[in-house]
Amino acid sequence: MATAHTTHQTDTMTETRSTQPKSIAYDVVVLGAGPVGENVADRTRAAGLSTAVVESELVGGECSYWACSPSKALLRPVITRADARRTPGLKQAVQGPLDTAAVLAHRDDYASHWKDDGQVRWLAGTGADLYRGHGRLTGPRSVTVTGSDGEERILTVRHAVAVCTGSRARLPDLPGLAEAGPWTSREATSAQSVPGRLIVVGGGVVATEMACAWQALGSRVTVLVRGGSLLERMEPFAGEMVAEALTEAGAQIRTGTSVKSVTRENGTVHVVTDGGDRIEADEILFATGRAPRTDDIGLETIGLEPGSWLTVDDTLRVTGHDWLYAVGDANHRALLTHQGKYQARIAGAAIATRAAGESVQAEDWGAHAATADHATVPQVVFTDPEAAAVGLSLAEAEQAGHRVRAVDVDLSGVAGAGLYVDGYKGRARMVVDLEDEILRGLTLVGPGVGELIHSATIAVAAQVPIGRLWHAVPSYPTISEVWLRLLEAYRDA
Ligand SMILES: Cc1cc2nc3c(=O)[nH]c(=O)nc-3n(C[C@H](O)[C@H](O)[C@H](O)COP(=O)(O)OP(=O)(O)OC[C@H]3O[C@@H](n4cnc5c(N)ncnc54)[C@H](O)[C@@H]3O)c2cc1C
Repeated sequence: MATAHTTHQTDTMTETRSTQPKSIAYDVVVLGAGPVGENVADRTRAAGLSTAVVESELVGGECSYWACSPSKALLRPVITRADARRTPGLKQAVQGPLDTAAVLAHRDDYASHWKDDGQVRWLAGTGADLYRGHGRLTGPRSVTVTGSDGEERILTVRHAVAVCTGSRARLPDLPGLAEAGPWTSREATSAQSVPGRLIVVGGGVVATEMACAWQALGSRVTVLVRGGSLLERMEPFAGEMVAEALTEAGAQIRTGTSVKSVTRENGTVHVVTDGGDRIEADEILFATGRAPRTDDIGLETIGLEPGSWLTVDDTLRVTGHDWLYAVGDANHRALLTHQGKYQARIAGAAIATRAAGESVQAEDWGAHAATADHATVPQVVFTDPEAAAVGLSLAEAEQAGHRVRAVDVDLSGVAGAGLYVDGYKGRARMVVDLEDEILRGLTLVGPGVGELIHSATIAVAAQVPIGRLWHAVPSYPTISEVWLRLLEAYRDA
């Protein structure tokens, strides 16, 4: 993975130059150099295919500059301080406020100050050619790149175009919203000062993480959630426990509340809710979902709907187009960097295999099939407490028709949890398939659980029989001993 801090050195970088011919042929053209596009290019180059990568903003994409990296850099001190405040002998030393300037400076470093030199070097090291500009399909196997100077380059494609253009924040259709200058995830992750009062609209991962970060950094946060709880896609206790902690931290959470109008007057944001309440704030963040960045990439020239999520098979090939792939957020399978990079590895292998003239048959997909996208997706919500899950929740497993049993364990009874912090609050749920005696899903909530979820990912992905899990002995005294408590609870149920 190319990160903002990758330091692969090379002098073979090829950027667009006016001396280049107007039309150039490549084996593969990748639209978008986010984490996913970078990894597709890495794989196709490793397979010896000439590869062009087109990027209209920064190499590294949303993840590096306005999403994963800056958000986690903001949250890390918040979570560490919360844990330190629960640690005997340490808590007395960390009662003061966070050093906001230092946190924001750390975030700026982690976002590479919104400069992509490091990632440009990394991409160059793969041997791919970078074209800076906006890429659009101009028919089958043809991409036109328009540079910032308006100059156009035509890239013709022998084997595959991979659309890795990602997603952007979706704003609701509210009158006057644009004039009110709302924050999206971009502003929430890159703001240079702390708003006194912040309204967060939404109850998903971005809303919850950003509410946690800015509340700890000094904002008075009000969260407006249309549904009944936070993190509705996870087990219900995840949203409940995170909401309880956010409330304890001083945030206000209003569920069952929609925004009817937003205006800004003399710098102050005024919100009217559907219940008629009026709320004022200094900034308002809309974290109300994502839209695909496929509205201006020439989809209409090949009979596809501009602005749609692209439907793909398990080799990431777009339905009905044997040369077109959509990888990462653009295909809407799992809007997560690690899952997009997994898809990139698979798409790269599938493109290379097909380019070599070998067929990739459904029954023989093996390494070429993104099977983990269906029911083995792991996710960590980096709040205090953390919430982490993999696979299916109880409701999802039942909906999918599995005969399952859920067992719950209170993490406060696990020795390693008690050692981790004083008064540890946490919970785990394991969803077991009663037919196959394997795990369908696991959810953990509590301090430090983010680092535990990969053990469950292995168990779910590898379909480890419950009987074998007894032989995967967790170290004492770690929070991982929750595995023993879950197995005992399942045995005794
Ligand atoms: C606030 C926030 C926090 C997140 N935190 C996490 C996290 O902790 N962990 C995690 O796994 N996921 C996280 N995500 C999700 C993650 O950011 C995305 O899943 C990931 O960035 C998707 O990668 P991508 O390469 O598909 O798209 P992007 O990262 O969006 O990259 C797409 C690239 O394509 C370029 N592009 C678009 N259109 C064109 C065009 N026509 N021509 C040329 N270039 C184009 C864009 O400029 C961009 O650089 C978070 C998201 C948000 C919003």
